[in-house]
Amino acid sequence: MKELQNLLQELKPHHATLVAVSKTHPPEKIMELYRAGQRDFGENRVQEMIDKYEQMPKDIRWHLIGHLQTNKVKYITSWVHLIHSVDSFKVLKEIDKRAASDERVIDCLLQFKIAEEDTKYGFEPEEAYEMLATDEFRAMRNVRITGVMGMATFTDDEEQVRREFRQLKTIFQHMKGHFFAGQDSFRELSMGMSGDYQIALEEGSTMVRVGSLLFGERVY
Ligand SMILES: *Cc1c(COP(=O)(O)O)cnc(C)c1O
Repeated sequence: MKELQNLLQELKPHHATLVAVSKTHPPEKIMELYRAGQRDFGENRVQEMIDKYEQMPKDIRWHLIGHLQTNKVKYITSWVHLIHSVDSFKVLKEIDKRAASDERVIDCLLQFKIAEEDTKYGFEPEEAYEMLATDEFRAMRNVRITGVMGMATFTDDEEQVRREFRQLKTIFQHMKGHFFAGQDSFRELSMGMSGDYQIALEEGSTMVRVGSLLFGERVY
């Protein structure tokens, strides 16, 4: 897998993790990357991720990168590796509750709206800071917030994309200073996709989510 090796070489100096976004691609395709050593895979639909989890090797680390409905949380908490797309207090409470039944602590990222285009999901910064200041949040024992995630506007305007990634980094730094000071586990900036991962790396990304560059265009 030439694309995989090239991408890993590019990520190396930045010490960034590659999440291979396998949505819409069948297990046979995913296994090509698996055999080349890739273990972190990202899916944006819960049902598709469950189907693949059930069929595929159990040492794959499954990352949920799409919106998670509260009523689906219970299907993934016993095995999901990282949820990038926590976008409300409500869903975080449900993850905490279900993770407690599974006797796990689940790593989560808070998703922020940074794109200019109207995106449906994601926190506004103030909304997240309010949540993080509540006693109810602080009492949670079965979720661990390890960073933030965001998607930049889909545009050729590099400066705009860069500005949006910088915004996310500013939010990350604010959270680190105010709510996670001294906690080494708070360290992930999940930003960058096939079209903009190089800019994201320059702006401090620790985790890129790359799909079409590795798998080719999506199949549906
Ligand atoms: C699909 C998707 C990606 C990967 O997009 P590509 O452009 O195919 O690399 C990354 N993040 C999220 C949240 C996605 O839904």
